[in-house]
Amino acid sequence: MASIFSRIIAGEIPCYRVAEDENNFAFLDINPMAPGHTLVVPKHETDYIFDLSDEQYLSLQLFAKRVAKALGEAVPCKRVASAVLGMEVPHAHIHLVPINSEADIDFHKKHSLEPARMAEIAKAIAEKYENS
Ligand code: 5GP
Repeated sequence: MASIFSRIIAGEIPCYRVAEDENNFAFLDINPMAPGHTLVVPKHETDYIFDLSDEQYLSLQLFAKRVAKALGEAVPCKRVASAVLGMEVPHAHIHLVPINSEADIDFHKKHSLEPARMAEIAKAIAEKYENS
């Protein structure tokens, strides 16, 4: 069965899309640690990130770098943190989280934002990405 992220990429499940290229897709985490928390995933479904081929892994990381730069411009923060867990969804993904301190990274603290706010943030990151 396709992962929930494959179904998002296929458009079967809605998301707040941020960016995509030939091999990768980025969208807002539904329960963000901070406004702008973005997930970056390879379109080719693979559970464990370190099982990706070298080419897929490099492609994903380079895409994540461009998305992170756009995120940092769209959402004021000191740093964009990058983290890989994969304990919940068996489809490789990188969390990009805008932070101002170490305490801002806490995978036990998830929030939900109003749909209009999520759409606004996704649009702001997407515009920065497109102009990069
Ligand atoms: P992990 O697998 O790295 O432990 O966490 C998976 C992440 O995916 C979580 O932060 C969770 O909030 C997010 N997530 C799970 N299901 C969905 C979904 O259907 N849509 C979106 N946008 N994010 C999801």
